Amino acid sequence: MKIGFIGLGIMGSRLAANLQKGGHTLVVFNRTPEKAESLLAEGARWADSPADLASQVEVVFTMLAHPVAVEAAALGRDGFLSRLAPGQMWIDCSTVNPSFSRRMAAEAQVRGIRFLGAPVSGSKGMAAAAKLTFLVGGEAGDGETSRPLLECMGNRIIHCGEQGTGASLKIVMNQLLGTVMAAFAEGLVLGESLGLSREVLFEALLSGPAAAPFLAVKRERIEKGDYEHADFPLQWLQKDLHLATVSAYETGVSMPLTNVAKEIYRFAIRAGDGDKDFSAIYEYLARDCDPAGAGTTGNGHLDQSDDRSSKPSMTVYAHDSH
Ligand code: NAP
Repeated sequence: MKIGFIGLGIMGSRLAANLQKGGHTLVVFNRTPEKAESLLAEGARWADSPADLASQVEVVFTMLAHPVAVEAAALGRDGFLSRLAPGQMWIDCSTVNPSFSRRMAAEAQVRGIRFLGAPVSGSKGMAAAAKLTFLVGGEAGDGETSRPLLECMGNRIIHCGEQGTGASLKIVMNQLLGTVMAAFAEGLVLGESLGLSREVLFEALLSGPAAAPFLAVKRERIEKGDYEHADFPLQWLQKDLHLATVSAYETGVSMPLTNVAKEIYRFAIRAGDGDKDFSAIYEYLARDCDPAGAGTTGNGHLDQSDDRSSKPSMTVYAHDSH
């Protein structure tokens, strides 16, 4: 099949390579053209714009960072949606919010284009190994038509229901991923500040009931302090927490924890950690700890005999001195 692929970042480049390995002919576009090189070397054709790509293919996949990038590729100047022939399909694998996904479905529908929102669960390694889980929202018939393509890139396909439901499930998953990662990082920082070794903390926490399974995969990065070559960039997890809170606003539920976690990741982005793996939230919190706190007494109040207590930064702990 002739497939167009837009968005060749960490995930998109691996998804596209697996479609290519599955025997499909690719036409590709990416904002940064250099990222297409390995696919072009294997026979993919370069398109000068999303619109140029659409006129050459039967199906378009998008795997872009966020809703703004997806909307620009689909509906912006040189967007692909108005250039796809009626009856063709657009499969958006980007992590976006459910209401956005439904809006894109409606934009596709008025042009006679079939649309599936099919975000993925799984990271860089699973994408390379074609072991992703696809969370599909849209017409069941379109889901079945697309199955052979999705099976080139993943080994589990969950049809979640109508338009937007794949995005709904994905947003719930990443709301958990982001809050759990931040909570675990905070726990590690506390444990170390109390004199526990990282080894004892990891061994005890990862073998106990309170830690999520994915945290074991992050152990090596945290132990080595190596957050480069992200599996999942911290800035996109912050984006997903934001999309969770946008979705909560739309449905009228409260997400106090998620909003706090979202802002912690925002601070980390501001400190220069946006491109790092999201587990760098540990490094951010550890870096940010206040050594002045070492002067407090057993009941959590300031030890006034410690001459560091004159530092203004410590007054924050002296609740009974106001
Ligand atoms: P990435 O490597 O940063 O790739 C992002 C892609 O979006 C690149 O193609 C990038 O183009 C493009 N892009 C970003 N901003 C753009 C803009 N303003 N206009 C046009 N194109 C833009 O990130 P990724 O990890 O592959 O993430 C892609 C999507 O997959 C995201 O929605 C993410 O949430 C989701 N996801 C990621 C993982 C993971 O583990 N990494 C897992 C599941 C889902 P350039 O190459 O020019 O920057």
